[in-house]
Amino acid sequence: MSEAKIIDGRKFAAEVRRGVAAAVAALKAAHGLVPNLAIVLVGDDEASHVYVRAKGRQAEEAGMATVEYLLPKDTPEQELLTLIERLNADATVNGILVQLPLPAPIATPKVLAAVDPAKDVDGFHPVNVGRLWSGAAGVVPCTPYGCMVMLKASLRGLAGRRALVIGRSNIVGKPMAALLLRENATVTIAHSKTRDLAARCREADILVAAVGRARLIEGAWIKPGSCVLDVGINRVPAPDKGKGGTRIVGDVDFEAARKVAGHITPVPGGVGPMTIACLMRNTVIAASRQRGLPDPGI
Ligand code: NDP
Repeated sequence: MSEAKIIDGRKFAAEVRRGVAAAVAALKAAHGLVPNLAIVLVGDDEASHVYVRAKGRQAEEAGMATVEYLLPKDTPEQELLTLIERLNADATVNGILVQLPLPAPIATPKVLAAVDPAKDVDGFHPVNVGRLWSGAAGVVPCTPYGCMVMLKASLRGLAGRRALVIGRSNIVGKPMAALLLRENATVTIAHSKTRDLAARCREADILVAAVGRARLIEGAWIKPGSCVLDVGINRVPAPDKGKGGTRIVGDVDFEAARKVAGHITPVPGGVGPMTIACLMRNTVIAASRQRGLPDPGI
């Protein structure tokens, strides 16, 4: 049997970034508008700092402006809410990104709900969640949106296909299921209480793994010819890299699954790069809408 086609997320992301840069240049030239992204990070989570730096760098590379707020981990919730109110009211700020996870005891839902839905470039505000599920135009969360771009480019139509989304988080699993449903896939959502996950996987024409468990999905679970999108990011020991060495792997046993699937995303280099590129896209769209301009076709 031939091996799966590798879905190259870096290539897709580069294409989105090119589209974003062109849209930013056009907004600047025609309307003097430079989309401005406010990035709020609370605490010293190492991975969050890496993501925030990457987001800031990519925004600047696309010609956008950014303003960063790096707050200590003991920042009182009220202080964070006051900052968000200020950013909501600031007409020069087009997008607001609150990097997750927020340290305890800050109530994440309360903070996400404080962001103006028009500036909610992550698509996590309850209003945007409602718009997504009801089919209205809103802001679509970045990781699932990126997955959909790659899926649509890889398969000829999604209608009627059986899709299994493993994971039901608000940031990946649930919005992913909503987007697949919108494209008329027949969607199942699995989670930690799902019985016989292997059997559910074997039925899936499209499998999206968003769990956070290294190589949970075995090659023998994959339906031959199916399309596998691996969202998971898991750091595991890698003795071949020397003492204390580690590497990033996904939720799917890639080497085994690639022998069975029709298409598969690698980790790293699959879903991850698309997430930040789609955040840039959401920021340009938010800026355009705030000026009453049509969405740029990115
Ligand atoms: P969460 O921890 O919020 O959700 C994990 C989900 O997996 C939960 O719904 C949980 O079920 C389910 N789950 C846990 N164990 C099992 C199991 N054994 N079988 C089936 N389901 C299980 O994670 P996120 O959604 O935030 O992230 C998921 C992964 O994706 C992580 O590795 C994260 O790092 C990565 N990620 C990658 C991004 C990218 O850009 N590539 C972006 C965002 C996340 P239950 O609800 O029952 O607890």
